[in-house]
Amino acid sequence: MKQIISVRDLEEMMRNGGDVRSVPTDALLTPSARDFLRDLEGNGVYKASGNGAVESRTAAKISSKSSNAELDAYFRTPEIQKLKAEICEVGRRMWHRAYVDGNGGNIAVRVGEDIALCTPTLVSKGFMKPEDICLVDLEGNQFCGEKKRTSEILMHLQIMKRQPRAVATAHCHPPHATAFAVAGVEPPSCMIPEIEVFIGRVPIAPYRTPGTPEMGKLVADLVEQHNTVLMGNHGAVSWSHVSVEDAYFKMEILEAYCRTVWVASQLGQPLKTFTPQQLQDLLNIKQTLGIPDPRIGLKECELCDNNEWRPGVSCATARDDTRSPSGDSQAEEMVQKITDMIMERMRQ
Ligand SMILES: [Zn+2]
Repeated sequence: MKQIISVRDLEEMMRNGGDVRSVPTDALLTPSARDFLRDLEGNGVYKASGNGAVESRTAAKISSKSSNAELDAYFRTPEIQKLKAEICEVGRRMWHRAYVDGNGGNIAVRVGEDIALCTPTLVSKGFMKPEDICLVDLEGNQFCGEKKRTSEILMHLQIMKRQPRAVATAHCHPPHATAFAVAGVEPPSCMIPEIEVFIGRVPIAPYRTPGTPEMGKLVADLVEQHNTVLMGNHGAVSWSHVSVEDAYFKMEILEAYCRTVWVASQLGQPLKTFTPQQLQDLLNIKQTLGIPDPRIGLKECELCDNNEWRPGVSCATARDDTRSPSGDSQAEEMVQKITDMIMERMRQ
């Protein structure tokens, strides 16, 4: 008896990364299944190659203007399934490293001119499944996905709009980096090579209510010059021109850096820095890797300009070595005068 294939069977096959052309040639297609296949080919989502296999076309043709059927079909292609799995994997790594708490954190990947995959709301990033991932346009309108998209997606989309090189964005709350954001202390430069090469300066965007367009704008204002931004009283966000894993790597590098600098600041010694020449060598490497940095092209004397940087905790150690000798003697004189006055009164 011939196999009967419905549109549901085809959708299921695509959802599992299967090839719709692997349907047996003697199978009977329902009329809607035939239309579905015709739509896929006709709309350029798929093309039948000479040997009968189906090849995915470039994502460039798919946009928010594509029909629902096209978007839906694209959402189930093997290449998109692979990206969904990568997003889930990055979420797992964030959770294992305690960069996310509760349902916090979100991830997005651009998959067309003005469309992106993103994580859902109200799901722990450590336990997402590919079917949880959503497809949205750059305004945040959701086209596909069983769950509702994250409320913080607007910030990711504003980053993608402002920075055309951004193919992926990652946002989380790594505790040490977030502590710098809460203290309003920008991480210092010229201390560890990785952050200089893969990130660079990390500015702090002022706090605004998470998920609001205003917060997204304040972050987006910084992404033309910086691939990683601290969000005041909130967390950190990064973008990558390579992949979602690369966006996540920036979070690992930032968090490791902030933790190291914080620990180093407890050791009671002034922190050592590279020389500007040594930073220049790192910037040269960065340039060959195609990673922009606003410091490329600056004069050496303008690099490593962090002499004023002090870890916030050093204030609590009450070391007195910043006071000038003249200030000390004036203070001592004053204390002596007051002591003398008190002693005089006691004698009376
Ligand atoms: Zn957040």
